[in-house]
Amino acid sequence: MTDASNYYVTAYYRFTKLADLPAIQKALEDKAEELNVKGLVILGEEGFNSTCAASSVESFEAWKSFIREFFNSPDQFFKDSESEKSPFRRFKVKVRSEIVTTGIPGVMPPEGVNHHLTPTEWNRVMKEESDYVMIDTRNWYEYKIGTFKGALNPNIEKFTEFPQYIEAQGIPKDKKMLIFCTGGIRCEKGILELQDKGYNNVFQLDGGILNYMKEYPNDQFEGECFVFDHRVAVDQNLKPTTKFGLCPHCGQPSTIKIECKRCDAHELICEDCIKVEYAKDTCSKNCAYQLEKHPARKGKKQVVPFEIEKMAAEGKDPSELPTIRVTRTKYISMNPRGEAETVSEKKNP
Ligand SMILES: [Zn+2]
Ligand SMILES: [Zn+2]
Repeated sequence: MTDASNYYVTAYYRFTKLADLPAIQKALEDKAEELNVKGLVILGEEGFNSTCAASSVESFEAWKSFIREFFNSPDQFFKDSESEKSPFRRFKVKVRSEIVTTGIPGVMPPEGVNHHLTPTEWNRVMKEESDYVMIDTRNWYEYKIGTFKGALNPNIEKFTEFPQYIEAQGIPKDKKMLIFCTGGIRCEKGILELQDKGYNNVFQLDGGILNYMKEYPNDQFEGECFVFDHRVAVDQNLKPTTKFGLCPHCGQPSTIKIECKRCDAHELICEDCIKVEYAKDTCSKNCAYQLEKHPARKGKKQVVPFEIEKMAAEGKDPSELPTIRVTRTKYISMNPRGEAETVSEKKNP
């Protein structure tokens, strides 16, 4: 670990049957407070899925030891990274029916590994074999900023659409299929769904893209990897992106710099919203709305919850700013009359 980093971040999950979730929640909260660990744990009867951060190596290691012991998981796999800023402001446990949202609760992967390829094996297949299909199981806006060479983009917005997509492709049931996601957990369920439908030659990338890039930066994965915290995306060296922001109008990765005509804030807008009247000149949905109503009037910047986390991590005080909600997977498109419309799904042109 390098000296420049102030925070040690780890992502980990496990499918395992859990009972008495309130007691587990309490134990995790107590330990996190004791060690001053921040982060998020999704807890369900099917297991846990978490990313946590600590500011010292000692509490970071103590937290991981605690997780191994508490969940009786001595071989627990942790994906570690570093950040100069804390990705989290607090520690939170959320109890959910699914620990990764797929829309198919109750499908529980077996304990242990099910058709996993290590990053090394994954690379070997990509470089030496040709008779396979590789599919990105993530959402369209994640695919857009980076993916594996030659990977297909199902263009899905919800994971429940994934099995239908595969069937619609007419891929033979015995075709070798390689699937991947950000951290591996989504594929644990994806592979079960596919096996259930008779695809018996499916493999998933162990630990996902993050694990792959840790071992093989600048190799078969091209671009950056979208992550679900204030970093937005990480580059090939798993460092927070310096290129992408989150478009305040639609939530997809954005790179076009603008200065808001209402509040003068600097913001990054995506290539779709830059074509949309009022969105193209504003830093938020609210500023777009206000600019349209009162074109000459200036106003205060509004922030989304995501930005509050980021500002707090940077030591700024966001408490005076009003907040708005942003839907992260909605997409703005132009209808034939040239008006902006919010749609829930984006299709390939
Ligand atoms: Zn946008
Ligand atoms: Zn603004």
